[in-house]
Amino acid sequence: MPRSARVAELVDAPDSKSGGSNTVGVRFPSRAPKANGSEYSEPFFVLKETETAIISCKTAYKALSSYSNFAEMKSTLQVYNSLTRQKEIFTPLNPPKVGMYVCGPTVYNDVHLGNLRTFTSFDLIYRWLTECGYSVRYVRNITDVGHLENDADEGEDKIGKKARLEQLEPMEIVQKYTNGFREVMRIFGNFSPSIEPTATGHIVEQIEMVKQIMARGLAYEVNGSVYFDVRSYAKTESYGALSGRQIDELMSGSRDLDVQSEKRDALDFALWNKASPEHIMRWPSPWGEGFPGWHLECSVMSSKYLGMPFDIHGGGMDLKFPHHECEIAQNVAATGCQRPVNYWLHGNMLTLNGKKMSKSDGNFLLPGDLITGNHALLNRGYSPMAIRFFFMQAHYGSTLDMSEEALAAAEKGYQRLAQAYGQLKNVKGSGQEDPGVEAWAERCQAAMNDDFNSPILVAQLFEAAKWIQSAAAGGIQLSSNAIQVLSTEFERYFIRVLGLTESRNESEEGSIQHIMELILEIRREARIKKDWSTSDLIRDRLSRAGISINDGKDNSTWHYES
Ligand SMILES: [Zn+2]
Repeated sequence: MPRSARVAELVDAPDSKSGGSNTVGVRFPSRAPKANGSEYSEPFFVLKETETAIISCKTAYKALSSYSNFAEMKSTLQVYNSLTRQKEIFTPLNPPKVGMYVCGPTVYNDVHLGNLRTFTSFDLIYRWLTECGYSVRYVRNITDVGHLENDADEGEDKIGKKARLEQLEPMEIVQKYTNGFREVMRIFGNFSPSIEPTATGHIVEQIEMVKQIMARGLAYEVNGSVYFDVRSYAKTESYGALSGRQIDELMSGSRDLDVQSEKRDALDFALWNKASPEHIMRWPSPWGEGFPGWHLECSVMSSKYLGMPFDIHGGGMDLKFPHHECEIAQNVAATGCQRPVNYWLHGNMLTLNGKKMSKSDGNFLLPGDLITGNHALLNRGYSPMAIRFFFMQAHYGSTLDMSEEALAAAEKGYQRLAQAYGQLKNVKGSGQEDPGVEAWAERCQAAMNDDFNSPILVAQLFEAAKWIQSAAAGGIQLSSNAIQVLSTEFERYFIRVLGLTESRNESEEGSIQHIMELILEIRREARIKKDWSTSDLIRDRLSRAGISINDGKDNSTWHYES
C-alpha cells in the first residue's frame, strides 16, 4: 500500500479468532473523518481472506488505496493555474475522476524536441494524478487537418502542403507521422493517453459547434468561410484573460487587414475555411465545401470527451495565444459556460545551447538525433531515459536549456539513481539505523504535491541514493523497516512517477552490474595475493571511467562518481 495512505491502512487482523493469519483488517486512524463528519474508531472492519472472499478483499484493498490517497491528496496537491496566475489547491469537479486535455501534435513532420519535453511534462502530471488515486481520463488530440502555416489563418494547410511536396495522400502523411510520434512517445517512456481523437474524425461535431456560435450571433459567414467575431464577443465576455492581453491593446497592435481579406476585423479567426479548388482535404458543410479552423477541434474534442466544464487543459506555453484563447472564446460562445476549463497548465520552452531552437540557423535537433548522436551538434548519443531524466531535473513551468554538458551530467545522475535502485534489491536490513526515511518519504510527496516539482523530488532521490550506497558498502546498518520504506518509495517515485523505466536500460544496468562484480572479484583475488599493482591498476582505470571503488572490511563495492 502506498505510504501516502494516511486515512486508512490495511493491518494484520487484531483478532486471530476471526480468521487467523489470512485475515486483514482495515484501520482508520482516529483523525480520519467519516462522511457524516464524525470520526472512525479503529479497527473499522476485518476482512476474512478466504478463497471466496479473496477477490473482494483485493478489490477493497485497491479501492481503499485509491480512496486513502485521494482523500489526502485532494487537500494538498497544488497546481499553478495559468488562468489565475497563482498556485491553487487542486479540486476536481467529479472526484475521484479527473479530466485532462492536452493539445497534441500536428502530424506533418517528426516531433519537435520541445514538444517532446511538453508531452513528457504532461506524462509526469498524468502519472502523479494517477498515483494520487485519481481516475484520470487523459485526452490528447492528433491534429490532422486545419493547422495552417501561419497562425493568422494564412498559408497552406501544413499537412496538405507536405502531401503536395511528397506527392502522397494527406492521410499517408498523417499516418506516417502519427506512427513516428507514437514511437517517440513510447521510447521516451510516455504513457498513451486514454483517448487520442483526430480532427478529421470530428468534422460533424465541429460543424455543429460553428452553427451554435453563429446561432448566438458571434460568428459570421463570408463567401463560404465562417469567422469568429471577436469584437462582438468581447462586448460581454473577456477575451485575452488567459494570455493577459487587453482587447484594446490587441486591436491597436494588430496590423491592418489585407485589402483582399474577408474578415471584418484582423482579430477575428476562422472557424470554417472555404476550400480552394486545389485544396485536397475538404468536407461538405452548410457553407459549402471546406475544412475546419485549427482552434475548433480542441474545443470540440475536449468538451465531447470530458464534458464542459472540465478539470485540466494543458499544452505548450506557445499555444496560450492565440490557440488557447480562441478555444476558450469558442466554448464560451457555443455553450455559455463561463469557465470551460478550471486549471490551465502550460509547459515551458526548451532551448538548445542557450538559444531558441531553429532549423534555419542549424540550432536544431530531433529526438532521434539525441539517441544516435549522429548530428553535427553532438559528440555522442544518450539513452532515452537519460534524456527523460534531464527533462525531469527542471520544473515543467521553467525554461530548460539543453547542451551536451548538461546531458552528460544528467546521464551520470540517472545512472547513480538507477544503480541505487538496483542495489536496494540486495541490501539487507541487518541493523537498527534509520536516517529518517519516513520524513524523507513525506518530502518526496510534498515535492510532487507542490505543482509537480520534479527537480525537488530528484534531489530527494539523490539523498536516498547516498544512504542506499552507504548501506550497500557496509557503512550504515539500516533497519529492515528503513529498507522496506526506501524500497517501496524509491520504486514509486523513480519508476512510477518519474517514469524512468526502460527494459533496455535496465538490462544494460544489469550487464554492467555483472561485469563490475567480475572485475571486483578479480581485484579481490589480486589483493589476497598482495598483487597491489593489479589492484591499483583496476581502481585507477575504473576511476578514469567515472566509477569509484570503496574497499570495505570484507568486500568492495562500486558506484558512479557524482
Ligand atoms: Zn489545441
